[in-house]
Amino acid sequence: MAHSLRVRLYVALIAWPIVGVFFAVLAFNVSHWFILALFASMISIGWYSWNLRCPSCGQSVILIGGVIAAPWVPKNCRNCGRPLA
Ligand SMILES: [Zn+2]
Repeated sequence: MAHSLRVRLYVALIAWPIVGVFFAVLAFNVSHWFILALFASMISIGWYSWNLRCPSCGQSVILIGGVIAAPWVPKNCRNCGRPLA
């Protein structure tokens, strides 16, 4: 059994600032090219979070009203009401 949606989202949320600061420090101290790695990692983690979907209906679980990305996983899917782990 894979980690729950909630655990995976929290891992992504924790990794985001850590990875961001890591590449920002490299960009300012080593090479400006690490700015590209910074953007790539931010987009990757954002994409990963976005793709945490309800196993029942496929709706992205962090979306509120299809527009706003929330930094938590709701108890129930906002689209179909299925309980989320
Ligand atoms: Zn659903």
